[in-house]
Amino acid sequence: MQNKPGSVFQGMLAPYAARAESSLGRKHPETPPESRSPFQRDRDRVIHSSAFRRLEYKTQVFVNHEGDLYRTRLTHTLEVAQVGRAIARQLGLDEDLVEAIALAHDLGHTPFGHAGQDALQECMGDLGGFEHNIQSLRIVDRLEVRYGDFPGLNLSFETREGILKHCAKSKAADLGDVGERFLRGTQPSLEAQITNLADEIAYNNHDIDDGLRAGLLDLQELCSNSLYGPIYAEVQDRYPDASRTILRHETGRRLINLLINDLVAETRQRIQSDHITSIAEVRASTRPLAAHSPEIAGQIKSLKSFLFHRMYRHPRVHRQAEKAKRLVRRLFHTLREDPRLLPLKYQARIQATDQQEKSRARIVADYIAGMTDRFAIAEYDRLFDPHGEA
Ligand code: MG
Repeated sequence: MQNKPGSVFQGMLAPYAARAESSLGRKHPETPPESRSPFQRDRDRVIHSSAFRRLEYKTQVFVNHEGDLYRTRLTHTLEVAQVGRAIARQLGLDEDLVEAIALAHDLGHTPFGHAGQDALQECMGDLGGFEHNIQSLRIVDRLEVRYGDFPGLNLSFETREGILKHCAKSKAADLGDVGERFLRGTQPSLEAQITNLADEIAYNNHDIDDGLRAGLLDLQELCSNSLYGPIYAEVQDRYPDASRTILRHETGRRLINLLINDLVAETRQRIQSDHITSIAEVRASTRPLAAHSPEIAGQIKSLKSFLFHRMYRHPRVHRQAEKAKRLVRRLFHTLREDPRLLPLKYQARIQATDQQEKSRARIVADYIAGMTDRFAIAEYDRLFDPHGEA
């Protein structure tokens, strides 16, 4: 364990943690801040970005106007940060880095969640594709307009490495330093690995919670899942007179705890058995070090498949998703055919490119991906509703 007393860096980090003082740095060199570590600075820059504020009005599963109690991209993001920090602290990892990655991980999501992403992906198929992880990176590297000295947020390598969670090999070569590990088949920092799994822990749990509240999931059917069922039964035994709401929340908190504890135990065991003592060894590893135990991993898989069939494919969710896809497709094709319908700022960006079909389509995709649900609906009305404002 290393600790620099009085320094701005976090104390008691494990030897395999990312180290703020030996960060691989930023694309545009900057003087290090005096009172914050580079990862704290990254986190702060993400929070002040406009893409972060827009998460509040973007769909997680339920479209933003369906109800005030459901998760949005913003509350999902905050839950990922919370779960991620809890895991990081137990493993002696850098919590600020985990938080920075977590807060930025969904910035590139389109309006209307996965439906929006699928539609945009389909529209951009022959034009370079669209992928929300790559879009998140594009936002922090290029699209945010805030600083006089550089484009984007100029985040450190470690935060950018974590944001790029998945990436096809065919795309990796274009992404420079953060794309290399996909070509080599190696790993990112443990901070990036655990944030990725914290994302899964958060969404599995909050989708169950939202799904039960919305009446999309059947509690009895959910209780036949080998992960959820036994915990629910235990809670029912302990609180026989409790309301369904309390039973749901008591089960949820226990499930999150169980998943965090399992992840921490398995990850510790892998770090030990692979003799990992530095971040260089973490990165060189050919297998992920952060993982659930095989037993729990199997149960999570069946829980996810349950959610997929019962919730994400539920007619109510599916109808919204199809409507959203039609809306995104129509916006894309219309704006691409006549870029003069775009706001002047985007028209200027097109003027500044090589005018190739691909470059123009990319700018239209950037415009649509940046929209919140309600902005996309309003833009649709402006373009297609004869009674709508121009
Ligand atoms: Mg997420």
